[in-house]
Amino acid sequence: MERMLSAIKPTGQLTLGNYIGALKNFVKYQDDYELYVFVANLHCITVFQEPSELKKNLKDAIALYLAAGLNPDKCTIFLQTDVKEHAELGYIMACNTYMGELNRMTQFKEKMQKKETALTAGLYTYPCLMAADILLYDADYVPVGEDQKQHVELTRDIAIRFNNRYGETFTLPQALVAKVGKRIMSLNDPTKKMSKSEGNDKGCIYLLDDLNVARKKIMSAVTDSYNELKIDHEKQPGLYNLFEIYSSLSGIDPKELLLKHKGQGYGEFKKAVADCVVDELAKLQERYRQIVDSSIVEDVLQNGAQKAQAVARKKLNKVERKIGINIHKRS
Ligand code: ATP
Ligand code: MG
Repeated sequence: MERMLSAIKPTGQLTLGNYIGALKNFVKYQDDYELYVFVANLHCITVFQEPSELKKNLKDAIALYLAAGLNPDKCTIFLQTDVKEHAELGYIMACNTYMGELNRMTQFKEKMQKKETALTAGLYTYPCLMAADILLYDADYVPVGEDQKQHVELTRDIAIRFNNRYGETFTLPQALVAKVGKRIMSLNDPTKKMSKSEGNDKGCIYLLDDLNVARKKIMSAVTDSYNELKIDHEKQPGLYNLFEIYSSLSGIDPKELLLKHKGQGYGEFKKAVADCVVDELAKLQERYRQIVDSSIVEDVLQNGAQKAQAVARKKLNKVERKIGINIHKRS
């Protein structure tokens, strides 16, 4: 069975973008791949997180993974810091990555251009840790939203470099980006990605939003003044985004949805999208409530950490031997 790995970082409450671009796909893939999914609690502290909020976001993220349908009998679910090998391989990867490569990462470049202050060294080197996350498990595929494709490509480059230097060690991973829903945009600014850490609450539907609040956000989504339902990314990016959301959640092709709603006004169309979103959130939240107050999360994390660590330990030992820093450990 081919391997697949992915993660979400708990920099805030998970969003509809995370659900459509990542989580929903993980669930789909768990039957056909050996799937490792973790919560990237090291990646999230590259930006300051208030500790008590972070704890809640972490637990919620795992509970939402389970509520979305990830089954711990089919996949391995764990917390990044429970497998210490991630951090060590991350350091080794940083020693095999050039600053020029990190300078080219769009996410970092954008933050530099915005002249954001207090950019941490951790944020700068985070693609190296991400490479370690993936390579530790010899993942063949990494399902991600479009924004993360560049990081998976860098991971490949680092893996190729390492394999050339030290001999065949890592499997080369491939990013898997879904056709629909790869980049859900902010509802009040469809030129920007919906992101949990942007602090743009109006543009962002959180999976645990009150259902009425979620409905209102869809109903007040920015559209355009053409007043005609069309799927036109360039001219009608707000509507396009609503079609993406609607199609991803309903499983119906955007063109079919267009036919179904042709001639309707934007208000009527938005109501249909809102119904679809609210339906999905209601089901998800109901399952979330059953999970979050039980001991399931704890059990899942303990088992997951054990399974993941067995794989990661073996790989890291191999890497240490190849580099020449390990002179006594076996296997
Ligand atoms: P942050 O603002 O902290 O970067 P984020 O919302 O971008 O948060 P991440 O943890 O960086 O979330 O990403 C987790 C996964 O969700 C990744 O696979 C990413 O590509 C995907 N993802 C994030 N935002 C979107 C979006 N708006 N549309 C589709 N996929 C998304
Ligand atoms: Mg992100």
